[in-house]
Amino acid sequence: MDRRVSIAARVARGLEALAIGLGLTWRAMLRPKVTVQYPVEKKNVSHRFHGLLGLPIDPETGKDRCIICFQCERVCPSRCIHIEATGKGKERVLTRFDIEMDKCQYCGFCVEVCPTEAIVFAPHYEASTYNRANLLYTLDDLHKLAPKEPIATGIVRTNGRKHR
Ligand code: SF4
Ligand code: SF4
Repeated sequence: MDRRVSIAARVARGLEALAIGLGLTWRAMLRPKVTVQYPVEKKNVSHRFHGLLGLPIDPETGKDRCIICFQCERVCPSRCIHIEATGKGKERVLTRFDIEMDKCQYCGFCVEVCPTEAIVFAPHYEASTYNRANLLYTLDDLHKLAPKEPIATGIVRTNGRKHR
């Protein structure tokens, strides 16, 4: 008699657990989805996302805003920025601005230190490749990567003054 009761109790406990489990499954099925079918569907990332780096073209001058101060190259802990220039003073022009993105740790130091907002993060994350050489971004690549829209640069503006 006792044995039958204990079997019935165990079956009841099993059914209760099953009902709780199915309840959770149904609730999850009816909740809005948080996943997407990548790469067919893609989510927009925050405009403050630390993706690849880019050098935006200034719409007023048609050139990038780099003043060739080398601060980003000096501050980079991964030593992955390489800048070369010719000429002196206002005649100085960039001859090389490469970033080895395979070494970049997306720390943002280069973006924060830049006095002219010449280097920014792009909200772009699809950089996977089978060939490491493809992760060397040249000046042309960095111009193309730069976002068209204004982007957060680590500098907060209040009353026209910059605060980092
Ligand atoms: S810190 Fe800015 S302005 Fe200076 S070299 Fe780097 S990108 Fe150019
Ligand atoms: S984000 Fe950091 S590691 Fe990457 S290039 Fe800039 S300073 Fe270097």
